[in-house]
Amino acid sequence: MDLGAITKYSALHAKPNGLILQYGTAGFRTKAEHLDHVMFRMGLLAVLRSKQTKSTIGVMVTASHNPEEDNGVKLVDPLGEMLAPSWEEHATCLANAEEQDMQRVLIDISEKEAVNLQQDAFVVIGRDTRPSSEKLSQSVIDGVTVLGGQFHDYGLLTTPQLHYMVYCRNTGGRYGKATIEGYYQKLSKAFVELTKQASCSGDEYRSLKVDCANGIGALKLREMEHYFSQGLSVQLFNDGSKGKLNHLCGADFVKSHQKPPQGMEIKSNERCCSFDGDADRIVYYYHDTDGHFHLIDGDKIATLISSFLKELLVEIGESLNIGVVQTAYANGSSTRYLEEVMKALFSTAVEMKIKQSAQQLEDKKRKAAKMLENIIDLFNQAAGDAISDMLVIEAILALKGLTVQQWDALYTDLPNRQLKVQVADRRVISTTNAERQAVTPPGLQEAINDLVKKYKLSRAFVRPSGTEDVVRVYAEADSQESADHLAHEVSLAVFQLAGGIGERPQPGF
Ligand code: MG
Repeated sequence: MDLGAITKYSALHAKPNGLILQYGTAGFRTKAEHLDHVMFRMGLLAVLRSKQTKSTIGVMVTASHNPEEDNGVKLVDPLGEMLAPSWEEHATCLANAEEQDMQRVLIDISEKEAVNLQQDAFVVIGRDTRPSSEKLSQSVIDGVTVLGGQFHDYGLLTTPQLHYMVYCRNTGGRYGKATIEGYYQKLSKAFVELTKQASCSGDEYRSLKVDCANGIGALKLREMEHYFSQGLSVQLFNDGSKGKLNHLCGADFVKSHQKPPQGMEIKSNERCCSFDGDADRIVYYYHDTDGHFHLIDGDKIATLISSFLKELLVEIGESLNIGVVQTAYANGSSTRYLEEVMKALFSTAVEMKIKQSAQQLEDKKRKAAKMLENIIDLFNQAAGDAISDMLVIEAILALKGLTVQQWDALYTDLPNRQLKVQVADRRVISTTNAERQAVTPPGLQEAINDLVKKYKLSRAFVRPSGTEDVVRVYAEADSQESADHLAHEVSLAVFQLAGGIGERPQPGF
């Protein structure tokens, strides 16, 4: 470590005195003007992480659905996953160290994690379309370089595309080519092969309106569309040519306002979708003939995909040893099913088996195995991905001959309630299992389990907000009354066990 050089460069990316930031599930996120030093230091940290894991590490400069003035950064671990929790702490320490303490913190991290400083390091960098992103990603590069790391700057990428690059590079090209063309080709080939099988390929399934949140999704979808245009034509809105990023558009806007984004004309029963600002999230929606708005997101997307996978797996039958869980499609069970099955499908052993089945089995089975093979290729295994999800959904709708209303009617949400509880420090809550299980504070998950048992068809989760000292409570049950009661009881448990502040949560809404 050339400490002299680090000190010199760090001074060029000086930390504003007293500024404290926290690395959360979304990485660091705040006003772009406060992030220069954080970017430089995350470049340093990425090099240490790369040396320690002997793998390529990713750094993504984005603030997802936040307004344009904000920005953020997060590190991507070797298999495209989120940064390991102990390194999240290192990230927080390093970002908050005052100038004179920075070197010591850097050395502390290296020692604690037994980083071999002689090891080579490689970091890949991507950024979204925010005006501040280019300069901030240059600061990341400064950090990488001063610690002697090699890097590849992909420039503009969606967040899931960067995850894909990291995953490709660390699996020796087995997963795909670590280039933007590699990504386009892999997904599009699978999509076109799938949709070729669709007997219903009328205009209904050929076109889709896409709101790109005035973000990176527009750019990348434009580049990609000719690769898959045989199967689908997309009409882009909020493509960044005039509006502001995430302003009156994008997945979060549509979801929270329950209305279409600005600038998109919708005819009744027309299929539409919205990406968020860095294209790792998608929602679908339509207007019915009475002009009512219908949102299709999370669980309904999972239901469509998981019921399709289930059919294929049943078709292939005993030749694949995957537990096909038989569940009613209550909220969440389809999400859970999807996670379990995807986990199984993404294992190399099962993938090999499917590939073999696609060669050998009788006609009907072979066709199902071939479809499954393509679906696996179409999924971004490294991260949630709006473009990949969109293509999976479009392929299934075409193959099943489902209209958007028929998809919507496949499944009805259970009554649910969401509440917020103010706490002194949201960090007392940590979760696992995709934020469905509370690990800390002790006793909270047990309390929730006991409360859930009192109601039929019920579930409840708590998770800390990414940005404020608030805990979000979600509850669902067989009736609205039960969901409301359960949500209130869980809020009380959070208030008591997780350091609630202010007034105790009151019943009634
Ligand atoms: Mg996002």
